[in-house]
Amino acid sequence: MPETADIIIVGGGVMGASIAWHLAQRQAGRIVLLEREALGGGSTGRSVASIDGLTFQPHAVELFARSAAFFRQGDALLDAPCGFVQTGLVVLAGVAQEAGLVTAVAHMQTAGVNIQLLTPAELAVLEPEMVLDGITAASFAPQAGYADPVLTTQAFAEAARRLGVIVQQGRAVTGLLRKGERILGVATAVGPITAPVVIVAAGAWSGPLLRTANIRLDLQPVRHPVVCLRRPSTFGPAHHSLLDLILGIYARPEIGGLTLLGSINPQIGYDPLDPDDGPGYVPDDYLLWTMERLTQRYPSLAHGELLTGWAGIMTISPDWQPVIGGWPDVVGLYCATGFSGQGFQISPAVGEFLAALVTGDSAPQLHPFSPTRLTAGQLLQTKQAAETYGLLG
Ligand SMILES: Cc1cc2nc3c(=O)[nH]c(=O)nc-3n(C[C@H](O)[C@H](O)[C@H](O)COP(=O)(O)OP(=O)(O)OC[C@H]3O[C@@H](n4cnc5c(N)ncnc54)[C@H](O)[C@@H]3O)c2cc1C
Repeated sequence: MPETADIIIVGGGVMGASIAWHLAQRQAGRIVLLEREALGGGSTGRSVASIDGLTFQPHAVELFARSAAFFRQGDALLDAPCGFVQTGLVVLAGVAQEAGLVTAVAHMQTAGVNIQLLTPAELAVLEPEMVLDGITAASFAPQAGYADPVLTTQAFAEAARRLGVIVQQGRAVTGLLRKGERILGVATAVGPITAPVVIVAAGAWSGPLLRTANIRLDLQPVRHPVVCLRRPSTFGPAHHSLLDLILGIYARPEIGGLTLLGSINPQIGYDPLDPDDGPGYVPDDYLLWTMERLTQRYPSLAHGELLTGWAGIMTISPDWQPVIGGWPDVVGLYCATGFSGQGFQISPAVGEFLAALVTGDSAPQLHPFSPTRLTAGQLLQTKQAAETYGLLG
């Protein structure tokens, strides 16, 4: 007798785990989550896991706002620690990004996010060690922060298990089973599992897996390195999380007096790779590039101690926006992938809305991110986002 399920989720990163919990909450039937290695062992486990509660993509506002609210109560909702730490987020804009930041802040405020624009005097009080050169606008979101990506994934998965989801680690899906316009299940090394619904949440491996069902998604896995610095003891209280749109870097405090930093410039630190080769390490030129910019903003950090950072794999879509939903010509097949460096912080809302869609409710929040937009030439690239955030440049 072949194994059967009502819904199979492929991939036990934060996304697969969140989808599983949200489906279980809807009592969606026999749900099986298949992870070929260990939960959180893919991109998720190497994530900086910042929860900014801010996006420059108007269609994504609700995903970001709803998820940020979730993380603040995640421990209670999942009955397990997600490791959320509130740091506050400062965003810096220059002439080129100012209008975009003002618009994005207004959108987030409308969605209920606690975020304000700052005067230069307010910014100076908030960040006394910061050099304010080139800044024409800034925002502050006091409730932003970060969480522990592995704890969060395990919390979602455990909560899903308690509601009856079968979580199998060490079980790889070797192919999708499709007959005509219908998905039939998945193949694994130890036999197939049949199911009328399959959700591919396999991170950087989603593209190759979907090809086994004759579906092509233009996704690019890239290596993204993260630099780790110990702040000098003279620095004083930790800085807030930072998105510096002028210099093209992000930085956030980490426990132990550490700062994690990296590039938000798509030309730097987003190098295409084969995900099966692994994420690699932090190249010296990247380290120099990011440190030069961080110390331009916070000169006193030049006296910090550089520690070993790490690299992880991100999955970039053609418009740097998530790819979530199904296909009209393959009944029962869905994906949640292509998160382009922002998947951790929207995982709660993606799980919530995808679970709604799969169980027959409408989820208009996901329509703009449908995989069919990539083939229909309806990319979400907006001029404003490109100018503001650089990532679409
Ligand atoms: C260095 C770095 C920093 C980041 N910083 C942030 C940040 O600050 N904020 C933010 O929001 N996002 C950030 N991201 C992005 C975020 O981490 C990802 O978008 C998110 O973790 C993606 O989760 P996922 O579940 O889709 O993918 P993954 O975590 O990669 O999970 C996919 C899982 O599928 C499994 N799998 C693959 N193929 C198969 C198969 N055939 N059968 C069974 N299982 C399979 C893999 O083993 C893996 O565990 C960062 C990413 C990196 C790499």
